[in-house]
Amino acid sequence: MSASKKQSNNGPSPSLNPRPRPTLSQVIKTCQGNPEIAAALAEIYRQADEQIAELDPSCPGCGTCCQFEKMGHLLYVSGIELAYLLETAPPLPAQAEIKLCPYQVSSSCKNRDGRPLGCRSYFCDKGLELPLQKIHEHFHWQVRNLHQKFQIDYYYCELTSSIHSLGSI
Ligand code: SF4
Ligand code: SF4
Repeated sequence: MSASKKQSNNGPSPSLNPRPRPTLSQVIKTCQGNPEIAAALAEIYRQADEQIAELDPSCPGCGTCCQFEKMGHLLYVSGIELAYLLETAPPLPAQAEIKLCPYQVSSSCKNRDGRPLGCRSYFCDKGLELPLQKIHEHFHWQVRNLHQKFQIDYYYCELTSSIHSLGSI
């Protein structure tokens, strides 16, 4: 037998045996345990808000876009965004039976600081659809990059079902 190191045949090598994917709940806990992630996301939101404000979108604040069922659209958030949203304010239990965002009360948002990119970049002003979409795409990639930078498994999930599945309502 040669003196060189022989690779064991007992089971797959570590590279063929990746760690199991953490659950969304585990991802949320990891994010919430790292204030650097929250600070980095807050900076992304700040820059996105700045660019969106330059477009000067009109919004009388009717709150209809937060009523997902009525609008026929859904709100998707990344794991890092969901962790931040849940950390800045817990969902409102009074909304559990209603198919709208668990942060909306009397047509207004009760978690504006924590609201995800999808909320920040959505306006019903059709004239701004394209520039808003570009801003959303740009900053969405920055959020994705945060997942990579902090080695947080990437989830992109629908808001209300995720909150329910986490047992936060
Ligand atoms: S987080 Fe706020 S802005 Fe976003 S959908 Fe909910 S109520 Fe609306
Ligand atoms: S973006 Fe449009 S639908 Fe949403 S709150 Fe403003 S005016 Fe209402």
